[in-house]
Amino acid sequence: MTTIYNFSAGPAVLPKEVLQQAAAEMLDWHGSGMSVMEMSHRGAEFMSIMDAAQRDLRDLLAIPENYKILFLQGGGLGENAIVPMNLMGRRPDAPVDFIHTGSWSGKSIKEAQKYATVNVAASAASNGFTAIPARESWQLSKDAAYVHLCTNETIDGVEYHFVPDVAEQTGGAPIVADMSSHILSRVIDVSAYGVIFGGAQKNIGPAGLTLVIVREDLLGHALPVCPSAFDWKIVADNGSMYNTPPTYAIYIAGLVFQWLKRQGGVAAMEAQNIAKASLLYDYLDSTDFYENRVAKECRSRMNVPFFLKDESLNAEFLASAKAQGLLQLKGHKSVGGMRASIYNAMPLAGVQALVHFMREFASTHS
Ligand SMILES: *Cc1c(COP(=O)(O)O)cnc(C)c1O
Repeated sequence: MTTIYNFSAGPAVLPKEVLQQAAAEMLDWHGSGMSVMEMSHRGAEFMSIMDAAQRDLRDLLAIPENYKILFLQGGGLGENAIVPMNLMGRRPDAPVDFIHTGSWSGKSIKEAQKYATVNVAASAASNGFTAIPARESWQLSKDAAYVHLCTNETIDGVEYHFVPDVAEQTGGAPIVADMSSHILSRVIDVSAYGVIFGGAQKNIGPAGLTLVIVREDLLGHALPVCPSAFDWKIVADNGSMYNTPPTYAIYIAGLVFQWLKRQGGVAAMEAQNIAKASLLYDYLDSTDFYENRVAKECRSRMNVPFFLKDESLNAEFLASAKAQGLLQLKGHKSVGGMRASIYNAMPLAGVQALVHFMREFASTHS
């Protein structure tokens, strides 16, 4: 049987061990006689799952005590509205600064304009979103309400490998980071951010769970229009149980957090992710048959878009890859070409298999 490697950008591959454990526990969780899906979210069984998931995530990212972890719904796109609805009560007339680095920050800009005055402090549109605008070029507002970054552009394959210092120029504005597609892939200093958010379906678990990590002083400033179920203060005060949370998705995320700990934590994952990404980018750079167009210093370790020089071979490339068990390599429709998403759950062997296939395909088609 062919080993399957799934390169989907999201919903994406999960660790096999996690799926096996979930399958074994599907009908009867820990002798409770119930599936996790059938439990009251306020019962002792689910509360223990919720507490463990929060504790493990706090350990994995070394989240300081003055930050709350919220398990919400609504996805990354939902947060594009929920963030300004929660923060704009703090400084209603202040502009929000955005760095436009690709598709996802672009969508965030559009949505925020419904709730706030938006200042696009820098945009990579002129380079086709292949590089992050140099920090010196950012036109930040001196009184910004917050600065929004998408720290990994899933579609364009652009990742921040630095935390920009924005406080001095903006009068202490917090950074809000959309980390949907690279959270837990690398060590981060949570205290450098005011808010970190992400949909779970890239690097955490199933779709339906949205993670928000928020500094406590940023709670309690929601606009009156903000739905109560998305008011971070209300959600925090109720331990993410103000309304029914996505219980099964939280359970799977909790299993992924335990799996990450067994792998050695986020630092060990980061080393592995660097090895995987280097293998693929080094191959791409070594051949004229394929091409990655992103500037080297901001290439994503998670999402690797690439093109065949001869695009008439695209369909054959995808069909041959699929026949060899290499799935979901088609690029996003807005960019074209191919994209290999190599999240935490993608083993090094998967990237080796991909590079091996690409090498063979190139040699038989050039
Ligand atoms: C996938 C993704 C989103 C959108 O998430 P949804 O859960 O579909 O709303 C937002 N931002 C980034 C960076 C993403 O990768």
